[in-house]
Amino acid sequence: LFVTFEGGEGAGKSTQIRRLAEALKARGLEVLVTREPGGSPGAEALRHVLLSGAAEDFGVRMEALLFAAARNDHVETVIRPALERGAVVLCDRFMDSSRVYQGVTGNLESEFIDTLERVAVDGVVPDLTLILDLPAERGLERARGRAEPGANSAPDRFEKEELETHEKRRQGFLDIAAADPKRCRVVDAGRPIEAIAAEILALVEPLSLE
Ligand code: C5P
Repeated sequence: LFVTFEGGEGAGKSTQIRRLAEALKARGLEVLVTREPGGSPGAEALRHVLLSGAAEDFGVRMEALLFAAARNDHVETVIRPALERGAVVLCDRFMDSSRVYQGVTGNLESEFIDTLERVAVDGVVPDLTLILDLPAERGLERARGRAEPGANSAPDRFEKEELETHEKRRQGFLDIAAADPKRCRVVDAGRPIEAIAAEILALVEPLSLE
């Protein structure tokens, strides 16, 4: 079972993934938690480049190609083998982030994005995509909170962008969900962590037993 988590900055993806992983492991399932960009040694090396200031000078096509290269390595060395041995794979961001970040707000034409996606995932498409939806302003507040002392990271270059850009991305994710209701579920990420976690477990657990 392959489940991906998508959404803007500060939507709570990593918290929810952790909660879900614990709940599924408690039921005796093998769970692999991973993330993009990254998730394999090669892709983590590209993550380092992509989130650094060096990438600010890359054209958006180069950026999209690097995300695709990282995704392909991640799929072939980590995700596909895990799915083949029957693990539940929970991935923090996947192909929909490319559609939104490089496609919608990077203004890359959809044909280019679709081609890269097809090559990168090579048939490994999520069974379920949970879109954690939150007004951009609230997500940014949370993401910035993380940059305070004691929190887990400084803002990366994508977190520094305009509110308007973040709103476009929110809409981009909602449009993907509307276009592919079989694969995608929108989860209201503005509620208490417990309530969100319960909804997500109720969505995923039946699939994990199939
Ligand atoms: O998941 P997290 O928010 O840490 O993602 C790392 C960064 O990579 C994010 O700021 C996101 O905006 C960016 N990203 C991107 N294009 C993708 C995937 C992630 O710009 N395809």
